[in-house]
Amino acid sequence: MKILITGGAGFIGSHLAEQCLERGDEVYIIDDLSTGGMDNIRHLKRHPKFVYYLDSINNVQLTAELVDTCDIIYHLAAAVGVRLIVESPVNTIETNVRGTEIVLGLAAKKRKRVLIASTSEVYGKRDHVPFREDDDLVLGPTVIGRWSYACSKAIDEFLALAYWKEKRVPTVIARLFNTVGPRQTGRYGMVVPNFVRQALSGQDITVFGDGHQSRCFTHVSDVVQLLIGLAEHPDAVGQVYNIGSNQEVSIQELAYRVKALAESPSKVINIPYEQAYEEGFEDMMRRVPDISKIRGLLGHAPKTSLDEILYSVIAYERERMTPGFAVSAA
Ligand code: UDP
Repeated sequence: MKILITGGAGFIGSHLAEQCLERGDEVYIIDDLSTGGMDNIRHLKRHPKFVYYLDSINNVQLTAELVDTCDIIYHLAAAVGVRLIVESPVNTIETNVRGTEIVLGLAAKKRKRVLIASTSEVYGKRDHVPFREDDDLVLGPTVIGRWSYACSKAIDEFLALAYWKEKRVPTVIARLFNTVGPRQTGRYGMVVPNFVRQALSGQDITVFGDGHQSRCFTHVSDVVQLLIGLAEHPDAVGQVYNIGSNQEVSIQELAYRVKALAESPSKVINIPYEQAYEEGFEDMMRRVPDISKIRGLLGHAPKTSLDEILYSVIAYERERMTPGFAVSAA
């Protein structure tokens, strides 16, 4: 099969490219490296079935050629990361909505199958868990900040479902919960790579707030397997699926687990939110997916344990922090 991955040099995109290549697919990626990096795909560059374009999907002519060439499109290109999103809401909304419009518009010509990567953020500030796909998405009150991302992704979802309903373009929506693993950058505030780097360098491990807030972390390899399953399943068309695990951990406990597994002398400290983020930041207290829908469709769910996930990130970051390890941007 021929696969197009927008955002293919990103954290999840590069793992998806790798798994598709391993299955024998021909993989095309397009990425403007705004949040992805060449380091993520350097090891794939010489693969005979891997073709990469360092360009924006706003280059409609190129994107059109790629969409025409491929059988399945994984649309992963987006502005991501709470820190980046809070700092640049205009760019977040424009990138996410315009990019999806372009991809769906092009896919419509030959009714190509499109998987849209969405996010658990669309559930907004719900205080009951687990989140189910048929829950209402309530995103008020309107505070510009992290919710610009959620709103842009909710529009992407509606757009994708509208293309299915009105134009019979086979789309499927994957709502990703906290995905972690090697190659995730800590640059935009993601907690696991941040904690691991702090632990490995002996700095304080910074827990924001009182640390009672929790998340469910899923290994990127499990996420990618589910994405492939969804994109290829005929019954998934026109549907929304949560992708995540339901092993919940508090951020305070996470900090101590990272410290223990990395055998780090670091101290775990709590930092008030006002010092950690810009004004107007709101944290989510809990975020747990109901994963019965995807389990019902594909018959399996994420299997990597939290410790295994953390070990994989520690090993990756340890290697990168070794003196002499070369990191380059292009
Ligand atoms: N967090 C933290 N220290 C950090 C980075 C994040 O305590 O150095 C907290 C953050 O406030 C949130 C959780 O970890 O409660 C997950 O944050 P992340 O940005 O990784 O994901 P999201 O909030 O989008 O789930």
